Amino acid sequence: MMAQILVVEDTPVNMKLVSMLLVKAGYRVLQADNAKDGIALAQRHQPDLILMDIQLPGMDGLAAARLLKAAQSTRHIRIVALTAFAMKGDEEKVREAGCDGYIAKPIEYKKFLVDVKQYLDRGANSQDAM
Ligand code: MN
Repeated sequence: MMAQILVVEDTPVNMKLVSMLLVKAGYRVLQADNAKDGIALAQRHQPDLILMDIQLPGMDGLAAARLLKAAQSTRHIRIVALTAFAMKGDEEKVREAGCDGYIAKPIEYKKFLVDVKQYLDRGANSQDAM
């Protein structure tokens, strides 16, 4: 069975694009437009990967990643941050929050799917995941 991927993203056009690319590639997709719903879906469905937008209304993606990585039931799930910025300090913040990596927006279609597959194939605790 193809991997299940949870997308947490509040911007509808981004959600639509990311989901379309993933579904087209054969993945099963779960969607949440806020961190709270995303965490609940992660606990319930145990997805293989979470694509986590950083800037979300209310709880942001880094806080959500911290909670997911602190919880026994979800800490094993790989989290890749979707970030509009990719400066050095931000990369550190993403790593400190427990994310396994990040994908910079705007998304490049082909590279996006290659990156997603690599994160799925890679072990959750890989040291050089960034
Ligand atoms: Mn956002």
